[in-house]
Amino acid sequence: MAQPRILILGAPGAGKGTQSAKISEAFDVEHVTTGDALRANKDMDISEMDTEYDTPREYMDQGELVPDEVVNAIVDEALTQADGFVLDGYPRNLEQAEELEDMTDLDVVLSLDVSEEELVHRLTGRRMDPETGDIYHLEYNPPEDPEVEARLEQRDDDTEETVRERLRVYRENTEPVIEHYDDEGVLERVDGEQAPNEVWADVKATIEDAV
Ligand code: ADP
Ligand code: ADP
Repeated sequence: MAQPRILILGAPGAGKGTQSAKISEAFDVEHVTTGDALRANKDMDISEMDTEYDTPREYMDQGELVPDEVVNAIVDEALTQADGFVLDGYPRNLEQAEELEDMTDLDVVLSLDVSEEELVHRLTGRRMDPETGDIYHLEYNPPEDPEVEARLEQRDDDTEETVRERLRVYRENTEPVIEHYDDEGVLERVDGEQAPNEVWADVKATIEDAV
């Protein structure tokens, strides 16, 4: 069988990156994430695209969405090259969902459900290992290796103020995307508020059932 094409949805901090890393390894699919792709290209010149700002950085640091034109191109290119994928961070509005429909079919659409209070706590405590890209949390998932601990970094947009704005943008733009897949009857909801291993057990079982 061809490799599965998996979409993982959920609010900022719901655990998409954490679960996508596991999915990518267990199902041997590529992790396509617009957040990482944009962070690697924060100062890319997008001034020719008739956008409000000249680089993705201004949008990201304020917690706003980067214009669709920029993000659609990144995803289109990545999916064309992938044989099976877990897509994380896209689509974030209904226009992007429509674009995605033209790009590919999906085998599984998952959403991780987590309460807003918990999301704020997860995001403000999130730390990244710049060398491996691994995701940690100061309280929930601290690294064991002191060398890793010493080099952890906080994302520029994981401050309380920007987190609140990102959650507002999520409610306004991205919740309708989840409703859209729910209305189509293809959405599989997973309780994302459980411990990481319990979330993983549910995610894995859901994918295995669907493919
Ligand atoms: P997203 O990609 O959806 O923004 P992440 O996977 O980066 O979310 O997780 C956000 C933060 O929450 C990270 O610090 C991560 O270590 C932590 N985290 C992820 N899943 C869980 C979980 N099930 N329980 C507690 N903390 C979690
Ligand atoms: P999180 O999962 O914690 O919300 P991401 O790493 O997915 O964060 O995204 C970080 C930022 O990158 C977003 O706040 C937004 O500015 C930009 N971004 C990521 N994906 C998209 C997208 N599909 N459309 C527009 N902007 C995006």
